[in-house]
Amino acid sequence: MVKEIYIAGEWRLGRGDKIQSVFPADQSVNAEISTASLDDVNEAVEKADLAWRQSSWRNSMPHERARILYKVADIIEARVDELSRLQTRDNGKPLAETRALTLSAAATARYVAAACETLNDELTTQRAPDFMTMSVHEPVGVVAAITPWNSPIASEVQKLAPALAGGNAVILKPAEVTSLIALELAKIFEEAGLPKGLLSVLVGRGSVIGDAIVKHPLVRKISFTGGTSTGRHLAHIAADKLITTSLELGGKSPTIVMQDADIELAAKGVAYGIFSSAGQACIAGSRLFVHHSIYDQFLNRLVEITKGLRVGHPETAGMHLGSLINPKHLASVDAYVQLAKKEGGQVLVGGEALTEGDLAKGSFYLPTIITGLNNSAQTCQEEIFGPVLVVMKYDDEADLIAQANDSCFGLAAGIWTENYRKAWQLARALEVGTVWINTYKKFSISAPFGGFKESGIGREKGRLGILAYMQQKSIYMGLSEQPNPWCD
Ligand code: NAP
Repeated sequence: MVKEIYIAGEWRLGRGDKIQSVFPADQSVNAEISTASLDDVNEAVEKADLAWRQSSWRNSMPHERARILYKVADIIEARVDELSRLQTRDNGKPLAETRALTLSAAATARYVAAACETLNDELTTQRAPDFMTMSVHEPVGVVAAITPWNSPIASEVQKLAPALAGGNAVILKPAEVTSLIALELAKIFEEAGLPKGLLSVLVGRGSVIGDAIVKHPLVRKISFTGGTSTGRHLAHIAADKLITTSLELGGKSPTIVMQDADIELAAKGVAYGIFSSAGQACIAGSRLFVHHSIYDQFLNRLVEITKGLRVGHPETAGMHLGSLINPKHLASVDAYVQLAKKEGGQVLVGGEALTEGDLAKGSFYLPTIITGLNNSAQTCQEEIFGPVLVVMKYDDEADLIAQANDSCFGLAAGIWTENYRKAWQLARALEVGTVWINTYKKFSISAPFGGFKESGIGREKGRLGILAYMQQKSIYMGLSEQPNPWCD
């Protein structure tokens, strides 16, 4: 049976083409899904605008909006096993990872609900006896939320929760290859009591349906997570429409292992930082700088750990890496490894796809470590988005900082050292939005997240994350018998 999509609070077949949702690990078909047509986009946006203007949502009490988000969190948590399995079927990540993503989505909804309830506006009056001023935040209207395939449930709730908490309506366009979880989220928001019309989930190709959504005149904000070139394209559209964007984009994050690092912890942390999610993470620590005095010892241990990682069926317990999203992406990852060899790199471990037995049906790639390149190599400058780590040696700290910052990206960085003074200085010198010291890929919903340079604009998460979906209004209230000079 062809799956329906969620258009303005109605479940029905989209009027676009049908697509297949495929399990990346063996190419079996999960479902056939109808996609939205351009007419569906127009209808969803127009009805979202109407629902936003006419329903009491935007003027509802914060605790009323929060109540729905708390329910969403409870439902996600109660269905964690089923949602994790669905996410794994959608994008091929190991179950342990999709379970963590699902629980983080529930935690996000709960945190945003609490932030919504406790958010205050400000009395901004200084010493003005004849008038009082107040600064209030108001919703922007219809928000376009566009998400990638690598961590759908987490990135989708990270947009839906603050946008709805801010009193807006949302049109969500998930990546076409991972639409199942977004459709499930629509059911969850519906069950939690979100008024009809405020949410649509439109499945379809980004360049057609995504483009039509963001260009629609009634869409007043774009919240996008995905690649830098798509982000740049959307920023142009936003500039033409004079609307705001939040862009969470790509990365090529450096990790630094200093001479006094705990080698065992650092080697395990570095392996986790690049190879978890099979490297399909914006924050993957894909460039590694190791101090020359510990280089050989560290590298030997890292290679040993990497050889011990289990690559396999994502539904089998204990796998470290599952399948890449699809054969096209596998070919792109492998092409980067071949390019690295042409650039003079040596592959110490990995460097090939798994093509034997059952795994041949999926897109499994071995965790790969490359040495012998310098930071200006194309392999060190472009985002591979796969399990490929390039390791470089450093000596001088000023040069290290210059090389680590020599990237168009600025999303994240890792530092491994026992010297906290040095760690602090380095953390401040790196041009990135997030720095992990003696850990990696840890997340707190209360810490704002986003990129420097071409890794993005704006921040998600944090107690004030809702404000990214609101606009500020100043209100002046005259208190004097003679409010203006000409009144006497
Ligand atoms: P992508 O190709 O940019 O696609 C992301 C989303 O944008 C998908 O839903 C896609 O739709 C849609 N899209 C594509 N072209 C569009 C257009 N012209 N107008 C409107 N929407 C359009 O990125 P991806 O390959 O899915 O994801 C990987 C990238 O995301 C990597 O660069 C990664 O670093 C980045 N990422 C960043 C973060 C962060 O927080 N900074 C987090 C996760 C991922 P379809 O795919 O359905 O066509």
